[in-house]
Amino acid sequence: MPKACTACKSTKKVELCGVCESPVCQKCAQYLPKHSFPLLPVRPPELHHDTYCGPCYVSKIGPIEEEYARLSVLAAKVLVFPKAKAEQTRLMDKREKPLSVEDCEDERDVLLKLAYLAAKEGFNALIYVHVAKKQVRNHAYQTSRWTGHAIPTKVDEAKLRPDY
Ligand SMILES: [Zn+2]
Ligand SMILES: [Zn+2]
Repeated sequence: MPKACTACKSTKKVELCGVCESPVCQKCAQYLPKHSFPLLPVRPPELHHDTYCGPCYVSKIGPIEEEYARLSVLAAKVLVFPKAKAEQTRLMDKREKPLSVEDCEDERDVLLKLAYLAAKEGFNALIYVHVAKKQVRNHAYQTSRWTGHAIPTKVDEAKLRPDY
């Protein structure tokens, strides 16, 4: 006797919720989009499932979605000061611990992820930004991955507009 979906009692195409393991049919199940939350530096275990029942999606993924949306907006506003702009960064606070990211697709990906990390920790600018390309041998072919680091800081945006 096949299991019935907890939500609609259907016995067709029933899977198990990855979190609570209750039966849920494909119509009622929720799935994470393939490339969800691309800027998350570390994917929490809640995101490691294929199938979610409605209540688990709301309680586990909902808060992550909200936080991600909030931080993405802030990250987009993070000001990035490349090394060359030393005269602008001269008076900024440089005492923070550097943030770093690895295994990125390209330079843009590095900057977006650094900005997300900065926003997460309450900063609105990145200084001493350094981006590097690494050649990685992957079986038969070479591919390149990008890494980067930067110091997060807080700046008074009204006083300062970088032209980067
Ligand atoms: Zn169902
Ligand atoms: Zn569940």
